Amino acid sequence: LRNWTRAMAILENFKEKCGTPIEKLRQVADAMTVEMHAGLASEGGSKLKMLISYVDNLPTGDEKGLFYALDLGGTNFRVLRVLLGGKGKHIINQEFDEVAIPPHLMTGNSEELFDYIAAALAKFVATEGEGFHPAPGRQRELGFTFSFPVRQLSISSGTLIKWTKGFNIEDAVGQDVVGELTKAMEKIGLDMRVAALVNDTIGTLAGGRYCNQDVIASVILGTGTNAAYVERAHAIPKWHGLLPKSGEMVINMEWGNFRSSHLPLTEYDEELDVESLNPGEQIFEKIISGMYLGDIVRRVLCRMAEEAAFFGNTVPPKLRIPFILRTPDMSAMHDDTSSDLRVVGSKLKDILEISNTSLKMRKVIVELCDIVATRGAHLSAAGILGILKKLGRDTVRDGEKQKSVIALDGGLYEHYTNFRTSMESTLEELVGEEVAENIVFEHSNDGSGAGAALLAASHSQYL
Ligand code: ADP
Ligand code: MG
Repeated sequence: LRNWTRAMAILENFKEKCGTPIEKLRQVADAMTVEMHAGLASEGGSKLKMLISYVDNLPTGDEKGLFYALDLGGTNFRVLRVLLGGKGKHIINQEFDEVAIPPHLMTGNSEELFDYIAAALAKFVATEGEGFHPAPGRQRELGFTFSFPVRQLSISSGTLIKWTKGFNIEDAVGQDVVGELTKAMEKIGLDMRVAALVNDTIGTLAGGRYCNQDVIASVILGTGTNAAYVERAHAIPKWHGLLPKSGEMVINMEWGNFRSSHLPLTEYDEELDVESLNPGEQIFEKIISGMYLGDIVRRVLCRMAEEAAFFGNTVPPKLRIPFILRTPDMSAMHDDTSSDLRVVGSKLKDILEISNTSLKMRKVIVELCDIVATRGAHLSAAGILGILKKLGRDTVRDGEKQKSVIALDGGLYEHYTNFRTSMESTLEELVGEEVAENIVFEHSNDGSGAGAALLAASHSQYL
C-alpha cells in the first residue's frame, strides 16, 4: 500500500505541474501574440522566427497542368504527382508513393540524404502512367515541402537554419536545400525544376485555401508541430521588399520553438529536453507533438517504477529505453474503451514486456496518457487563440460574421481522437460560444503534398 500511495503521489504531482486552467491558457495565448509581433518586427527579435515564406498569392482554383511534389519532414517522405484541371475542375487525378527514410540517413551527411531522395523521386517519375505525361518540350516542375526551419531567399530557394524532429545532418545547415536537391537530381539525369520551396504548414495552408477561400491559418500536429497564417504585408516591419500586390504574405511561424514562462513544464520535460538532439530548442514542440508525447509518459512511468515499485520490485528494463513507447501506442491505450482495458494490457505486454497488470494499474496508465495529451491539446488551442488574436478574429465585431477556417493536418491530429476533441473544445471554450460559431477546423488531408504541387503550379516557369 505504501508503494501505491507513493506512485499516486508521483502521478498527482505530475498532474498538478501539467495543469492548464483557462487563465493559464489565456496567458499562453497572449504570450504567443506578443512573440508574433516581436518576430515580425525584426530578424531574431523572438524565439518565434516568423519566417517570410515568399508566398503572397494562395491558390485560386485556376491552376492547371501536371505538377510533382515531394514532402520531407518526418519519418517518411512522400512523392506525388497531381493533374490540375484549371478553373472549377480542381484536382483531376493524383498518384503518390511513400518511402521511409532509413534512420542512418537522418544523422548522416547531406549528399547521401539528397541522393536517396532524388533516386526515389526518379523511380516514381518512371512510373508515370497514361495521361500523366508533361506536355511535349516541357520540363517537369516540383513543389518541395521541406518541413524544417528555412530562411527563404525566394519562393524557390532557401537555406536550412537548423534541424528538428530527430534529424541532425551538420553539413546541410546553412546550405540551400533546393540547390542540394537539384544537384542530386542532375547527378542521376532527372530533369526536373524546383518551382516552389515550402514547408508542411505552407503547403497545408495552400491546399486548404484551394478548397475553401476562408482558410486563414494552418496547424500541423504530427511528428512535430508548427503553424502558418496569412498576414497583412504592411504588418511585417522586418519586410523591406516591395509590398506584394495581394497585400498579403504567408508567415511560417515555426511555433514549435515558442517558449514562455507560462508554459507548464515539469522535471520530465526538462530531462527529455536535455537528452534530446536539440537541447533548449523546440520546447513547445516537445510538450505537444507526436515525436515526444509517448516518451513523456514513459518517463513518468519509469519514475513510478523506480521510486514506488509500480511494476513490482524490479524496474522493467524496456521502460528505460528512450522512445520505446510511441505516441500511436499511447493513443491506442488512451482511446481504449474496453471494460478491462485490454488494449492497455496488451500494449504494456508487447512493448514494455510488463505482464499481469491489474485493472487498477491500467486505469492509472490511462490517466497518465490523459494528463500528457490534455496538456498538449490545451496548449495547441492556446496557440491558435494567439493567432486569432493577432488577426483580430478572436472577437465578433458589430455582429460581423466572418468565418475563420483553420486547416489542420498531421498524424497526431488525424488519429489521436482524445487529443483532437480536447483541442477543439478548448478553443471553443477560450473564444466563447458566439465567436466559436465562426471558427471552423478543417482536416486538410495531405494538404502539404497537394499544396506544394499547387504552389509549383502558381510559380511555374510557363505562366
Ligand atoms: P510527419 O509529421 O512526420 O510528416 P505525419 O503527419 O503522418 O508525419 O505524423 C506522424 C506522426 O503522427 C507520428 O510520428 C506519430 O507521432 C503521430 N501519430 C501517428 N499515428 C498516430 C496515432 N494513431 N495516435 C497518435 N499519434 C499518431
Ligand atoms: Mg508531414
